[in-house]
Amino acid sequence: MSNNYQELKRAFEGLKTPCYVIDEAKIEENCKILKSVMDETKAKILLAQKAFSGFYFYPLIGEYLTGATASGLFEARLGAEEMKKENHIFSPAYKDEDMEEITRICDHIIFNSVNQLKKYKSYCLDKGVSIGIRINPEFSTQEDHEIYDPCASGSRLGITLSTLENALKEDASLLSGVDGLHFHTLCEQGAEPLRNTLEVVYKNFGKYLKNMKWLNFGGGHHITRDDYNRELLIKCINEAKSLFDVEVYLEPGEAVALNAGYSVTTILDKTTSGDTTNLILDISAACHMPDVIEMPYRPPLFTSGEAGEKKYTYRLGSCTCLAGDIIGDFSFDEEKNIGDMLIFGDMAIYSFVKNNTFNGMPLPDLAVLKKDGNVENIKSFGYQDFKKRLS
Ligand SMILES: *Cc1c(COP(=O)(O)O)cnc(C)c1O
Repeated sequence: MSNNYQELKRAFEGLKTPCYVIDEAKIEENCKILKSVMDETKAKILLAQKAFSGFYFYPLIGEYLTGATASGLFEARLGAEEMKKENHIFSPAYKDEDMEEITRICDHIIFNSVNQLKKYKSYCLDKGVSIGIRINPEFSTQEDHEIYDPCASGSRLGITLSTLENALKEDASLLSGVDGLHFHTLCEQGAEPLRNTLEVVYKNFGKYLKNMKWLNFGGGHHITRDDYNRELLIKCINEAKSLFDVEVYLEPGEAVALNAGYSVTTILDKTTSGDTTNLILDISAACHMPDVIEMPYRPPLFTSGEAGEKKYTYRLGSCTCLAGDIIGDFSFDEEKNIGDMLIFGDMAIYSFVKNNTFNGMPLPDLAVLKKDGNVENIKSFGYQDFKKRLS
């Protein structure tokens, strides 16, 4: 969190809370870093909309990146309507009734299984779409977040080597017409696990890659983080291109909008229970930062420390009736009071794309911190947004 807290606080004064504010300059800074990798390698980089679907920024992002990728029809439509560049899609399974539209708006379609490939291959080829398959290299590089590990045993994501080889025994032409391989196995990781994964991919799938046009390294690359080894990434991309004569795609989500958003909340009440002082906020972990509970992780909060580190320690909770709707225990140098504003950092990714209205909680508004320092509201939500999803 390099941004100056006092400046942010001044800029956010008077905002109706809860509110997400997306930092335009920071999005552009991230895009420039990604573009520098593209320029040095001729790799193609796509925005994975799953992490960040702030389409207000798609024209800006599209100035730098190759296009967007989607996890299903709706994200694909958003990419087609708002980014209007290369449009890729991967879904664990497609529906017959969606394929006409998907083949119309997507130029690359990635299949997750032999069944799906067989079912839709000729239809997609007739429409002139480049098709690929997602492989599971069965090489886990993370222990911390098993729910984010597509290589975990029994994973439904991607075709394993043995499944592919058995299918090829039955149908030797299975891969004819298939242009690319895709793997996605990383989560918030550096270039070293990527290099190790590529070794396994080349050893096991290299013979198939030789006949293909592209290789997609998936997402999970924290390319815009300060300590990311971009030199190694560049080496990996160049090596793939020279070994197999393929285009290389990357599809980061987080890296595009890393540290590019804030959530702004107001303290509504302050209560004590035993030794704990609770602050009741108008933002909720369960509704507005579900990864705090799901991942779990501790969101960065400006000017705060660990519990007990600074003079005043508080437990931050929300207005829902869920006892576990707790953001965490944080400490501050100054006492916090009803009406004070708090600002969380790194709130552009996996935040508003995951929001829900559980317990009738309002959806936070969306705003942009412009390059000139002004803040502009770009979307307001209200009661109708809650009601229209129910009946
Ligand atoms: C989630 C996902 C991404 C983006 O991952 P990040 O961790 O946000 O970079 C890319 N591709 C696929 C297939 C994904 O599921």
